[in-house]
Amino acid sequence: MNGLTRLFPPDWGVRQWAMAAVAAVVFCVAVLAAGRGLASGAMGEIMRVRFGGDAERTRVVVDLDRTSRGEVLQTGADGRVVVSLSGVTTPPGLNGRGVGLVRGYRVAGAGASSRVELDLATSAEIERRFLLPPGDGISHYRYVIDLKATGRAPTRPNRAPEPPRPAERPLIYIDAGHGGRDPGAQGVHARESTVTLAAAQTLKQALERTGRYRVRMTRDSDTYVDLYRRVAIARAAGADLFISLHADAGGDPATRGASVYTLSEQGAGRAVREFTSADNWQRSLNLPGRDASVDRILLDMTQRATQNRSAQLARTLLGELEGADHPLLRRSHRDAGLAVLLAPDVPAVLLEMGFITNPEDEELLTNARARRRMMQAVADGIDRYFREPAGEVQLASTGTTSAH
Ligand SMILES: [Zn+2]
Repeated sequence: MNGLTRLFPPDWGVRQWAMAAVAAVVFCVAVLAAGRGLASGAMGEIMRVRFGGDAERTRVVVDLDRTSRGEVLQTGADGRVVVSLSGVTTPPGLNGRGVGLVRGYRVAGAGASSRVELDLATSAEIERRFLLPPGDGISHYRYVIDLKATGRAPTRPNRAPEPPRPAERPLIYIDAGHGGRDPGAQGVHARESTVTLAAAQTLKQALERTGRYRVRMTRDSDTYVDLYRRVAIARAAGADLFISLHADAGGDPATRGASVYTLSEQGAGRAVREFTSADNWQRSLNLPGRDASVDRILLDMTQRATQNRSAQLARTLLGELEGADHPLLRRSHRDAGLAVLLAPDVPAVLLEMGFITNPEDEELLTNARARRRMMQAVADGIDRYFREPAGEVQLASTGTTSAH
């Protein structure tokens, strides 16, 4: 993975900027709301419900004066999303019109919890949801529900569900590290760019066999693709997951084992700095207030949700590899500010499959059977990741770390 850290992240596409802009507006509203103070009482209360976004993606922010846990009661399949929030009561008459994917909303008290009911304007599903504690200048909790259009006509409860269409399957981008004039690390017999390509092809087959994913590769021959492009094409295609395959190299031939990288706080910070210092940042965002510091915090926040998701995938992958008896590096979940992972909106991991400089690992990397076994474990990990709900992602106000 030589030289990865030197590269600058690519510019965002229009959609990403639009989403950031929407999120920024939501954020500004939240700053205003924070000034209104907190409701009193032992139980918490829902302060208000806000919306941002469009008919493709809509963000719902529920402002709360205390922490809460969310539980999905209706997923959107029948035209409604219902999320129950524990430990918070509901002020009377909290309902109104929505925005984008949400036609209207209603919050109803239900004992010691409240139900946030969203009537969908079109077919949509929950992309992720998470609780934001007070922080970044906001003094209350926020429960965020991100909705994504599914592209189907709204189904009625009494109708049989339609089989998934190809466009609805998650898109996975597999990135075979290095290639062409960049061979990567060198083993005794093999070079990194060759083993990453073979592994990527094997992983693609394993994922396609499930019938549940669309799979694309950033390269499928021994060609050079710069890192800027690798991330940019995955992002432009709207990838749901980006997995970069590499092989480690170490001075000590005894060092061996696989490891998974996710983006570190430092890396996130760097991404934020570089995105926000770009000339086109303010222009692209097209914010009414154009407050650069708010934009920065916001991008940071947006990024953390993806980081949490990436960390979740890292854990799942390592679990599967361990289950398949694949040797792991002792500290097998690593953080880094790698350029190839700097896609704030696409969960991304970098898998170091083993040390090409270690004889046993080199054998595992070059042997077709061992490769199939390893990539099957990776495919199983990805499969498990997509079957797990995005879940209750807890975000610390001072930043989370995905280090283990
Ligand atoms: Zn590499």
